[in-house]
Amino acid sequence: MTTSHYIAGRWVEGQGSDCISVNDPALGQPFAELLAASVAQVDQAVAAARGALPAWKATNASERAAYLRGFAEQLGQRREALITLQMRNNGKPRHEAEIDLDDAIATFSYYAELAEQLPSKNRDVPLATPGFSARTRLEPVGVVGLIVPWNFPLVTSAWKLAPALAAGCSVVLKPSEVTPLIEQAYGQIADSLGLPAGVLNIVNGKAETGAALSNHSGLDKLSFTGSNSVGSQVMRSASAQCRPVTLELGGKSAIVVFDDCDVDQAVEWIVAGITWNAGQMCSATSRLLVQDGIATALLPRLQAALEKLRVGNPLAEEVDMGPLTSQAQWLKVASYFATAREEGLQCLAGGKVLDREGWFVSPTLYSDVPKDSRLWTEEIFGPVLCARRFATEEQAIAEANDSRFGLVATVCSADLERAERVADALEVGHVWINSVQAVFVETSWGGTKGSGIGRELGPWGLSAYQSVKHVTRCLG
Ligand code: NAD
Repeated sequence: MTTSHYIAGRWVEGQGSDCISVNDPALGQPFAELLAASVAQVDQAVAAARGALPAWKATNASERAAYLRGFAEQLGQRREALITLQMRNNGKPRHEAEIDLDDAIATFSYYAELAEQLPSKNRDVPLATPGFSARTRLEPVGVVGLIVPWNFPLVTSAWKLAPALAAGCSVVLKPSEVTPLIEQAYGQIADSLGLPAGVLNIVNGKAETGAALSNHSGLDKLSFTGSNSVGSQVMRSASAQCRPVTLELGGKSAIVVFDDCDVDQAVEWIVAGITWNAGQMCSATSRLLVQDGIATALLPRLQAALEKLRVGNPLAEEVDMGPLTSQAQWLKVASYFATAREEGLQCLAGGKVLDREGWFVSPTLYSDVPKDSRLWTEEIFGPVLCARRFATEEQAIAEANDSRFGLVATVCSADLERAERVADALEVGHVWINSVQAVFVETSWGGTKGSGIGRELGPWGLSAYQSVKHVTRCLG
C-alpha cells in the first residue's frame, strides 16, 4: 500500500524519509509498509484544508449532517474489513474490535443530529440595557489539526473528526504510525461520499510528520490525543502561536472497591478495567483500592480470574486478551516487570512476558504496592494492576486523588449514596459507579490535572470546534 495519504481529495504516495512498518503484534511480523508524508506534503494538506474552508463552513448544517450520516452508514458497510484490520494490527479480540466500530458509527450519527440542531443555537441574547439588540453566532474554529494514538484508532479519530466536520471545520488528521491503515477508511468514505476535496485530509507519519502538523502556522486549532511527553511538546507549539489546543493525555486511574460489594461482580469489573485492550487504555483502572473487609476474599479470586484469561492471537483463537500492539509497548511493560522485581513487589499473578512469538504479556497483579512505587504512580499502558488496601471512605478518596493524573475512576459499592458521594469527591473527568469503561457519546470525555485540557464527546465535543461570535446592534 503506497498511496496512503489523502490530500486535497487525492490519494498520494508518501514522500517523507521514514518508512512505516505495519505489524501483526500476535506474530511480531510486518504485513505492510508505507512511506511517511513529507513536511511539504503536510503543508499541502494544510493548504488544501484552508482552501476548502470557506465553502465548507458556508454549507448548511443539514448538508453536513447528511455527510456525517454517510460516514456512519459506510463504516457499517466496511464492517468485516475494519474489524479484521483492528484484530490484525491492534491485536484486539473480535468483540472489542466490534465495539470500537460501533462506537465510531454512533459518534458520527450523534454529531449528525447535533449538526442539524445548530441553526437553533444561533439566538438573540436578551439585554438588560435598552436600545441594543444582540445575537449569538456559533462559527467553526477553522482549519484544525487532529493527532491521534494507536490504541483505539477508529474511535479516537471519530471523536475528533465527527464534531469538527459537524461544526464546519476542515481538518488534517494524522493517525499513529503504529496503526496507519485503519483510519484510511475515513478517506475512502470521504471519497465515496463526494465530500468536497480538502475538507478532510489524512497524512501518515511518525514524530516528524506530527511535529510538522502541530507546528504549522496554517492551523487555527490542534486537538491531540496521546502521551503526556508529546502532549507537552504539542502544547508548546500551540503556546508559541497563541492557538487553542485540546489535549487528551494519560491516566493512572483508581478503582475503589468497598466491602459491601459482591466479590465475584467486583472481580469482573476489576478484570475488565485492566485487561480490556490488553490494558492499553488511557482510562485503564490500574490502581485497585480495596477495603480491608473484602480484601482477603477478593484478592485470591482476582488472581484466579486473571490467570484464567485466555491470552492469544485473536485471528487464530477464541481469546479474552490479545497481544500488546507494538514491540515498543511490549518492551516498556517488560521494563515495569523488571522494576517490580527490583522494588521487591509482591506479585500475585503474571509479572512476565509470554514465551511465544508475538508481543504477549500475562495479566498481572501486584498487591500491597507502596505509594511511592513507580508501578503505583506511572502510567504503564498494559494489563498490570497494582493493589492497595484502605480502611475508611476518606482514606479511599485521598489515595485515589493522590495522583498527577485525573482521567477516570470506578467506584464499586452496594451503598449507592456512598458511591455517589465518593464519585463527587474524586478529582477526575468521568466516574463509573458499579460499571466499567462504559462510554456513551452523549457524555463527556477528558481529564483533570495531568490528564489533559478540554473535553470530547457530547455537546462539549462540538463546542471544542466552535467559536462564539456576538453581533450587537444599536437600535437608535
Ligand atoms: P504518543 O504521544 O507517542 O503519540 C500520539 C501521536 O502523536 C501519534 O500520532 C504520534 O505519531 C504523534 N507524535 C509523536 N511525536 C510527535 C511530536 N513531536 N509532535 C506531534 N506529534 C507527535 O502516544 P501513543 O503511544 O500513540 O498513545 C498512548 C498514549 O495516549 C497514552 O499515554 C494514553 O494514555 C494516551 N491516550 C489518551 C487518551 C485520552 O482520551 N485521554 C486516549 C487514548 C490514548
